Amino acid sequence: MKIARINMGAEGGPKVSEEPLGAYEGSGGRALTSAIVSKEVPPLCHPLGEDNKLIIAPGLLTGTSAAMSGRVSVGCKSPLTGGIKEANAGGQPSQMLARLGYAAIVLEGKPKDDTLYKVFISKDGIKIIPDNSLKMLGNYDLVEKMKKEYGEKIGCISIGQAGEMKMAGASVAFTDMELRPTRHAGRGGVGAVMGAKGVKVIVVDDNGMKMRNPKDPSKFGEANKRFVEGLKKHPVTGEGLPAYGTNVLTNVINESGAYPTKNFMWGRFPNCQKISGETQAETEKARGGLATHGCHRGCTIQCSGIYMDKDGHYLTKQPEYETVWALGGNCEIDDLDAIAMLDRLCDDYGLDTIEMGATIGVAMEGRLAKFGDAPAAINLVKEVGKGTPLGRILGNGAAVTGKVLGVERVPVVKGQALPAYDPRGIQGIGVTYATSPMGGDHTAGYAVTANVLKVGGYVDPLKPEGQVELSRNLQIATAAVDSTGMCLFIAFALLDQPETFQALLDLLNTFYGGNLTADDVTQLGKTILKNEREFNSKAGFTAEHDRLPDFFQKEPLPPHNLTFQVKGQDLDTLFNW
Ligand code: SF4
Repeated sequence: MKIARINMGAEGGPKVSEEPLGAYEGSGGRALTSAIVSKEVPPLCHPLGEDNKLIIAPGLLTGTSAAMSGRVSVGCKSPLTGGIKEANAGGQPSQMLARLGYAAIVLEGKPKDDTLYKVFISKDGIKIIPDNSLKMLGNYDLVEKMKKEYGEKIGCISIGQAGEMKMAGASVAFTDMELRPTRHAGRGGVGAVMGAKGVKVIVVDDNGMKMRNPKDPSKFGEANKRFVEGLKKHPVTGEGLPAYGTNVLTNVINESGAYPTKNFMWGRFPNCQKISGETQAETEKARGGLATHGCHRGCTIQCSGIYMDKDGHYLTKQPEYETVWALGGNCEIDDLDAIAMLDRLCDDYGLDTIEMGATIGVAMEGRLAKFGDAPAAINLVKEVGKGTPLGRILGNGAAVTGKVLGVERVPVVKGQALPAYDPRGIQGIGVTYATSPMGGDHTAGYAVTANVLKVGGYVDPLKPEGQVELSRNLQIATAAVDSTGMCLFIAFALLDQPETFQALLDLLNTFYGGNLTADDVTQLGKTILKNEREFNSKAGFTAEHDRLPDFFQKEPLPPHNLTFQVKGQDLDTLFNW
């Protein structure tokens, strides 16, 4: 496997060079993006400047026949948080890049002028082509144009208008199996960094390439079989997620009293049934969409789906739980069609749905629109796409919007919006939000497992005891899983079924011919977190940044009427291992 570096600021125009992994040998996904950022990006550089790098890295098992292995990591210094960032996505391009032999594509430097480029990667190498006709296209129109030019067997990695305008809420889109730009590395403004590099789209064509070959094909195949059986037999990965997608959580989290409603004012949304996963699945089926669908080939859990409008025409992929919450309950919007339209607009402009939903919630609290007003929310997102002055404020996220509108209750950590679980009702996730090097991020250490779902044990969600240890263990495990290219949802089965965790180890060992143990995996997770923490510390982050906003300590959240209980001094022990 090799690294391709594309220097967008080279004399005489962008230049490509390829090199072996070298010092990064044995790394993939998040381990690789975070290692490159820590080693090569000056922590104090401007995120939109020439010294920042955007790294797109498939995982260790991506491009193989292992189930669930098509995820991709996108890393850089974040324009939203000012710290290190890894944002993760599904879609097809990751598998294609890996089959072409790329462990990472690194965009470096800064173009000399405002020419916009497309990059074409195939078995014949990498071409960089100026193409100003792509300027300010939405992701959907852009992909259609690429299909006409390069055919239907490609994958696209792209930015919409938000990335071109270098907004801190901008995402990088990856096309799905239907060649639609629906899978996003959403968090932290990674799309703004791609925009700053002057790259609109990377078109990947793996025609003529084969699956990556394991060292021991028969044992690898046998481990994959055990791995898939393990996923099928666990109730979350075998039943809940396939039937209703992640939105199965709306009723569950609402019932637990931790569903952040009306910009984190209440822990229950009275109308949640109208936007639940159950209602969503019924609607999708009734309109000829799909309630069970994968975001890439080889996904056996299939938590995604396809959402049609009232007339039975494709509108968007199935909006997932965090999107439905952000653009729904958080804004008191209870209309699934409006939420689906907001999701479609975010995908087209290339925006993080969590950041945008939290931003609209803050804007509603700042009286820019009324809570529950779906048409107003749609108009606000359209402002972002048009790049009006108001749109540019909103597109830079909840923290900027809160400042501009004089709103005190702004749910962010390290400048990044908190997702769909209130830390006063699920205290363990609050520890992750506060301490993750990524800023407010549920996936970094998903304590909802033991706090609510009773997966991997049980820790009372309303008490501070045990939450730091829970979040620590999950953050370590997550960093490691994010490096394999595996979808994080396999973790439900890994946490409860030692034999499924063993099957994952066997996949890695039979592919690479190594002898990884569970301890090695833990060590890998710790090393990644250490790299990330060190980068953030050099970028100016201190213990004060590992805290939730004030109002979580002061305002009790109904129905449990609790504040966030975990003390600062305990949060500061999270990385002591
Ligand atoms: S489980 Fe869902 S998010 Fe994970 S790979 Fe499958 S469709 Fe994508």
